[in-house]
Formats: sequence, structure tokens, C-alpha cells
Amino acid sequence: MIELKPLVERIVDSGFPELKQVRICAFYVPYPIRKAFLCFGRNNRNKYAIKVCPSLKNVSEGVLTGGLAHELAHILGEVSLDDSSSKSYFRLCRTYSWYQTLHERSTDLTVVKRGFAKQLLEFVIYVEQRREPYQKKDCLTQRELRAIIRGLE
Ligand SMILES: [Zn+2]
Repeated sequence: MIELKPLVERIVDSGFPELKQVRICAFYVPYPIRKAFLCFGRNNRNKYAIKVCPSLKNVSEGVLTGGLAHELAHILGEVSLDDSSSKSYFRLCRTYSWYQTLHERSTDLTVVKRGFAKQLLEFVIYVEQRREPYQKKDCLTQRELRAIIRGLE
């Protein structure tokens, strides 16, 4: 089983240095997170928690890195928001599916820009072997990620 704390620290160090001062914990929850396998939340003291599905206990480090990098990219977007901007963002996401789409796809682009495109692709492949394939409305697709990776090489 991969220990989450040192892995999150390595990802932050190499790709999300702005988050070094942010309190982020990550842990495996005892119940399945079926749809997305990971999620994050913030408590009222500006501490973030990344919850990880127990089924990810036995995956490769690449798969886990891709999933964690996506959540860290969300947190990176969140830390710059004050409470009212954060609330209006969540309201927009609930009200407009296109806004949710825009947000998820731009979060994935942040993951790519921070150097984790291959790991994100590994994560997407893992997830799609276990649930229905992602659509463009959900996130960057396998096809798009492969094209981006080819373009970067
Ligand atoms: Zn997301």
C-alpha cells in the first residue's frame, strides 16, 4: 500500500509549490468513493482533506499520483478564493453543468501544466476500466490526454 502523506508531499514539491504552506491531509476512507475515487473538502480553519477510496490502496504510484494531482489542482484553485467566491463557485457548478465542465477540464489542464499528464492518463485508464468512460463534459478524455502527451514529447 502506498503511503499518502509522503506521496502528496512529493507531488506538491515538484508541481504545486504554492501549496507548501497549505495544510493538506490525505487519507483512505473506510467506504467506497464510487464515482470519482477521490474527493477533497475544506474545513472552517482552511485545512484541506483529500479522501481516497480504499480500492486505490493497491494501485500503482502513477495512478494514485494522477488522482491526487487532480485534487491538488482543485485545491490550488480554491486557496485563492475567499469564502463568498467559493460559495458562488459551488452555486454556479450546481446550477450550470457547462460551468462544472469548464471547471473540471481546466483543473485537468492545470494537472498537465504542472507536469502530471502521464499520471493523469494512467488514472483515467484505471477509472474507465471500472466505470463508464469519461466524456468531454466530465474532464479531459484519454484521447485528448494522449494527444497532449504526444505534443509535449
Ligand atoms: Zn475534479
